[in-house]
Amino acid sequence: MSYEKVEVPEDGEPITLADEETGALDVPETPIIPIIHGDGIGTDVGPAAQKVLDAAAEATGRSIAWMRLYAGASAREKYDENLPDDTVQAIRNHRVAIKGPLTTPVGAGFRSLNVALRQKLDLYANVRPTYHLDGVPSPVTDPGQMDMITFRENTEDVYAGIEWEAETEEVEQVRAFVEDEMGFDEKIHDGPVGIGIKPISEFGSKRLIREAINYAINNDRDTVTLVHKGNIMKFTEGAFRDWGYEVAEEEYGDDVITEDQLWDEHDGEAPEGTVVVNDRIADNMLQQLLTRTGEYEVIATMNLNGDYMSDAAGAQIGGLGIAPGGNFGHGRCLAEPVHGSAPKYAGEDKVNPTAMILSGRIMLEYLGWQDAAALVKDAVEDTISSGTVTYDLHRQIEGGTRVATSEFAERVVERIHELA
Ligand code: NAP
Repeated sequence: MSYEKVEVPEDGEPITLADEETGALDVPETPIIPIIHGDGIGTDVGPAAQKVLDAAAEATGRSIAWMRLYAGASAREKYDENLPDDTVQAIRNHRVAIKGPLTTPVGAGFRSLNVALRQKLDLYANVRPTYHLDGVPSPVTDPGQMDMITFRENTEDVYAGIEWEAETEEVEQVRAFVEDEMGFDEKIHDGPVGIGIKPISEFGSKRLIREAINYAINNDRDTVTLVHKGNIMKFTEGAFRDWGYEVAEEEYGDDVITEDQLWDEHDGEAPEGTVVVNDRIADNMLQQLLTRTGEYEVIATMNLNGDYMSDAAGAQIGGLGIAPGGNFGHGRCLAEPVHGSAPKYAGEDKVNPTAMILSGRIMLEYLGWQDAAALVKDAVEDTISSGTVTYDLHRQIEGGTRVATSEFAERVVERIHELA
């Protein structure tokens, strides 16, 4: 594989697909892994996470040949473009990668590079686990109740990028079509208007919901909750819910039952080992996350709901500095933290690298390096429990030692060496 804008490291070997059907990978001892440090605080958390992942790999008898990729500000600086084709192609070819946050201007300017990457690679499942680490301060009284994983559809919804700016010829054409041809003539106010389209397809919904159900079955989880606003958006979010129940009823035999079946056929007692699929309306769900936290285990939802929900859930377990994630599809994984580029802290060596480090843990698990992944989690947890924390957690606890991003990573590396 050769690229114009990417250097392939000589000391590693590429990861390949071992089984087309299952998406299983063939991972060499020194895999080439692409990394985008990202914009803003990406320049702080990216290198910090890299050090920790190197230490975990080495402690378990392996190593990582990092392949530095450029996107966002770093790509503009080097190549005068936001997202070089080679960056996308390198992730496609090398299958497992990690990225820091990329800035998206609000209103005008270029569209989200994060969304573009997910769409171009068809990484249709954005998976965001939310669990509490010992010692992490939280605004709720019992953060340990939260142990949830969100499967967020990544390619559709109002995030699809099908929208038109106010006062353009295109938006007026869409307005005329909606009002004159589709009969919604009183629905859009006169004067300038921006219009967006919300596609929710059976194909996109079902493949995401299958991922959530498969995860629940394979990880001994009891419930999958479809989160939607189908009472209002009947033909999009309502359809997502209906397609979810269809998947549950038609594709999993006795392994999965719906909430209706639970009550109609089992008196509310799920048979041992059965996954129950239920649904909640999104606004209710956001309050249930706080009031009945422990009842929710696996969430399947659409793009916008999933974005809101995972930030809110992240706050319950210590904030965005802690919350990891990954994008999956077609035997590929692009790990990335939930948080953005927090430009006001860029380059200050101040923010918490835990979210990026734990996104790396997700990546290690995907490689099948479960021992290295467990080391990362234990070392991060022990470091925080010992009171060594960055500013975000330090402001919420009494005592403790406030450290910089790089120092926190060094302490985690030291702990990895002690644990290994
Ligand atoms: P943000 O970058 O996530 O930051 C919001 C706040 O969250 C920060 O001010 C900080 O809170 C806290 N925070 C975030 N990361 C942290 C960390 N590692 N350690 C400690 N605290 C952390 O959200 P935003 O300000 O709305 O977005 C900024 C830019 O990022 C936008 O351009 C947005 O489009 C982009 N973004 C990118 C991604 C992505 O790349 N996937 C995701 C979301 C947003 P305090 O100020 O209270 O300390």
